[in-house]
Amino acid sequence: MSADVRKDWDTYFMDIAYMVSTRSRCSRRHVGAVLVQGKKLLGTAYNGAPSGVPDCSEAGCMITEEYEVVHHDGHEEMVKKQRCVRTIHAEQNLLLFTDRIDREGSSVYVTDQPCWTCANMLANSGIVEIVYHRPYPKDADKVRAMMEEKGIAFRMLETYHPPKETLMDVKN
Ligand SMILES: [Zn+2]
Ligand SMILES: [Zn+2]
Repeated sequence: MSADVRKDWDTYFMDIAYMVSTRSRCSRRHVGAVLVQGKKLLGTAYNGAPSGVPDCSEAGCMITEEYEVVHHDGHEEMVKKQRCVRTIHAEQNLLLFTDRIDREGSSVYVTDQPCWTCANMLANSGIVEIVYHRPYPKDADKVRAMMEEKGIAFRMLETYHPPKETLMDVKN
């Protein structure tokens, strides 16, 4: 394999995050996250119910509805959105399954831009960089502002393409 067809590190770790996301049993959202220190993989996690507890494929999603402000053709609209709250988000599972000492100075690769709650936790977890692929507009502005304040690098991989076999149909 020549150097120019070899995967760069961003692609390599984001591919792993997408592979991990296929473990999720929630039919609404498949999110994968990995912890990387230097070039070393220190942990992987996906969104799921606590272990030993029925997951979305067994017990169904646990749906909540809430209104969100959506920008549409220059004006704001209130749109009712559904979310599944049965699962622990991938980023939170990643924090549960890794040690603080390993996280100091590390990066998180996550398939989806973190929600506000996950971003808040990541900001206090010792990590110094978040790399994501799919945008999550709902919380994007406030998350980006907070990361700037904290001095945490926050990068979207805009030209990245996930491995096809890791993409699943989800209801949105
Ligand atoms: Zn679910
Ligand atoms: Zn989250």
